[in-house]
Amino acid sequence: MFSSLRTLRLATLPSTRAFTTSRFAMAPKHHKVTVIGSGPAGHTAAVYLARAQLKPTMFEGMMANGFAPGGQLTTTTDVENYPGFPDGVLGGELMDKMRAQSERCGTVIETETITRLDCSERPFKLWREGYDEVTDTADAVILATGASAKRMNLPGEETYWQRGISACAVCDGAVPIFRNKPLVVIGGGDSAAEEAIYLTKYGSHVHVLVRRDVLRASKVMATRLLSHPKVTVHFNTVPTEAVGNGDLLTEVRTRSTKTKEEGSITASGLFYAIGHEPATSLVKGQVDLDEQGYIKTIPGSTLTNVPGLFAAGDVQDKRYRQAVTSAGSGCMAALDAERYLSELEVTAEGKAKL
Ligand SMILES: Cc1cc2nc3c(=O)[nH]c(=O)nc-3n(C[C@H](O)[C@H](O)[C@H](O)COP(=O)(O)OP(=O)(O)OC[C@H]3O[C@@H](n4cnc5c(N)ncnc54)[C@H](O)[C@@H]3O)c2cc1C
Repeated sequence: MFSSLRTLRLATLPSTRAFTTSRFAMAPKHHKVTVIGSGPAGHTAAVYLARAQLKPTMFEGMMANGFAPGGQLTTTTDVENYPGFPDGVLGGELMDKMRAQSERCGTVIETETITRLDCSERPFKLWREGYDEVTDTADAVILATGASAKRMNLPGEETYWQRGISACAVCDGAVPIFRNKPLVVIGGGDSAAEEAIYLTKYGSHVHVLVRRDVLRASKVMATRLLSHPKVTVHFNTVPTEAVGNGDLLTEVRTRSTKTKEEGSITASGLFYAIGHEPATSLVKGQVDLDEQGYIKTIPGSTLTNVPGLFAAGDVQDKRYRQAVTSAGSGCMAALDAERYLSELEVTAEGKAKL
C-alpha cells in the first residue's frame, strides 16, 4: 500500500549475481524439508517448521521471479491490513521482521535461487542457480514462490507505478490519493469487475476499460458492473499512456480499438486487473496446475498431487492474494509437511523392523 506524497520505497536489491558460467560442483546437502520462496507464505512455513525442530532450509531467492528476497511486499510502502501493526508497517520492514523471526527460530536461510526441482522420486532433487549438478536433496518441499501481477508497460508506467498505478485494488484502494477521485480499471473479467465495484467505495467514479466489445466476466458480475451508478464501462478501449504531474498520476490516455480515436480520462488511479502469473516454472509438467497456471492443491490443505510437495501463498491462490492469507497457507503447509514427514518416519521404521 502507499500513501499520497510518500516517496516510493524501492526494494532493497541485493547485488545481482547472474551465473552465466557453471559454479563448481558441490556435494549435495540433504534436508528434511526445504522452503523455496521468501514471502509471507515461505517465512510463516519456516517459523512453524523450525519450531517443530525440523531444521528447515529456506532458499530465499536472488531476484527470483523479479523480486528481492521478501517478495512482493518489498515493492510497496505502507501495509495497513496486516494484523498486529495498528499504525501500518512498511512492506520491507514487515518482511525484514519475518526474516528475522524465521532465523531466530532456527531456519537456515540461503540467498540462492533454485532453478530446477525434480520431484519424480524421493528425496526430491534441487539445483541452485549456476550449478549443473544437484546441490540439495529434500524429503519434503514447500513451494512458496509467489506470483506477479501482469503489467502493460505503458509509457509513464515506471514513473507512476505506486504513485497512482497499482495491481491490487484491495491492497491500495483505501489510500488517500484515491479518495473521491476518478479511477480507471483495466480488464474485462471477473477480477476486473470485482475490483471496479470494490473501488466505487473510495473513488468518485470508476472507468473500466475493456479491449473488446463484451465483458468476459460472469453474467452476474457483468450486470452488477454495468448497472452500477458510479461505473462507466468503455468498450473497445485500451490505455496508451499514464500521464501525471511528475509526482502522481493525473490522466490515462486511451485509444479506441475500433476507430483508433485517441482519448483521455482524468484519473488519480489506474488499476491493472489483467491477471497474475504464478511462479511455477520449477514444477511445470511435474505437478497439476489449473488452467491459469496456479498449483492445484487439495481443497482445505496445501497438498499437491505429488506426495511431499506442498504449495503455499500466491503460487496456489488466485482468489485472495493477500499477505495474511499467504501467511495462513504457509502455516498450513508447515503442518501438512510435518505430518507427512512423521508418517514417512513411521513407514521407514516399520520397514526397518520387517
Ligand atoms: C505492490 C504490492 C502491494 C501489495 N500490498 C499488499 C497489502 O497492502 N496487503 C496485503 O495483504 N497484500 C498486499 N500485496 C499482496 C502480497 O504482497 C502478496 O499476496 C504476498 O506477498 C504473497 O506472498 P507469497 O509468500 O505467496 O509470495 P511473494 O511475496 O510473491 O514472494 C515469493 C518470493 O519467492 C521468491 N522466489 C520465487 N521463485 C524462487 C525460486 N525459484 N527460488 C528461490 N526463491 C524464489 C521470490 O523472489 C519472492 O521473493 C501487495 C502486492 C504488491 C505487488
